[in-house]
Amino acid sequence: MRNLLPLRSALAPTTTVAALAAVAATVAVGAGIATAPAAVSAAPARVALVAADAETDVAAVATDGTNVRYQGLTVRIPAAGEGVQAAAQSTSGDLSITVSRSADGSVVVKTDKHEHSVAQAANAITTRTDAAKTCTDTAYALAGWKLPSFTWYYNPAGTPSALSGTAAAAITSGTTALNSACGQRSIGLAANYGGQTSAAVQVGAAGNCIGNDGRNVIGWVAGSGKWLGMTCTYYKTVNGAKTVTGTDTALNTQYKFFTATANCSNAYDLQSVVLHERGHSLGLNHVDQTAHASAVMTPALSACSVGKRTLGLGDYKGLAAMYGTR
Ligand SMILES: [Zn+2]
Repeated sequence: MRNLLPLRSALAPTTTVAALAAVAATVAVGAGIATAPAAVSAAPARVALVAADAETDVAAVATDGTNVRYQGLTVRIPAAGEGVQAAAQSTSGDLSITVSRSADGSVVVKTDKHEHSVAQAANAITTRTDAAKTCTDTAYALAGWKLPSFTWYYNPAGTPSALSGTAAAAITSGTTALNSACGQRSIGLAANYGGQTSAAVQVGAAGNCIGNDGRNVIGWVAGSGKWLGMTCTYYKTVNGAKTVTGTDTALNTQYKFFTATANCSNAYDLQSVVLHERGHSLGLNHVDQTAHASAVMTPALSACSVGKRTLGLGDYKGLAAMYGTR
């Protein structure tokens, strides 16, 4: 058992969350709570939150019955049979929350937080950490969803001026790098570039997943949070399988990115960030930062590192396990 403190939602009058246990804790929220103030009676219907696993930090999750918030990330509670993940890669790790709704109306919440002290002040390009394992380490972790197909669009609005001539190519390279690694066959999912779009990246500045128009857009956001890249992935359960219905990736212009392989100064490699975020879209979860240092799906990224521009064998194996090869 663990003690959980009452939580205050920023979106609504005080909402009290009480939980029973770390695993499969049922959290009742809203009008049904005895300690809720009268104002909450007009709030959305009672929502039951269930922690997906022992790692889920239910004490850090707040809801007003419409949205779920966790450490600066916000997602809207989906319809029954659907789910959404907000995954934010920061300079020192990665933060995510996945919220899904069961047929019985209960809301299952999974949180994931990794903090690592990796080199961040840098003015020289570095390459893969533990490169010897790039094509031998087979570790991967799966989120549980798959894209049925992957047509993606780029919204260039807000491109940092220093990258105006190179960003699109680096984003394309970061996406096509999903295809294969280490001399293996191509995975069975081809990423198709649909072209430029004026459709918005549906990621809010603070780190919120603000909607799903069904179009997979990548682009720039002047984010206020501590995230370099953030991906919102929506899925629904069809015949027992989680199928992605939309996935958007935002790149935070509050940070400095680079695309070259020289003259880096405290900046982050655009292609590497894109490839990691694409991994989330396609259904990869993180692997351990230290044990699997050569993998793209480690949580943290060092400044000036170009070592994650291509998949490690484990990243590839995860994708091949989901999509097969061709
Ligand atoms: Zn991540």
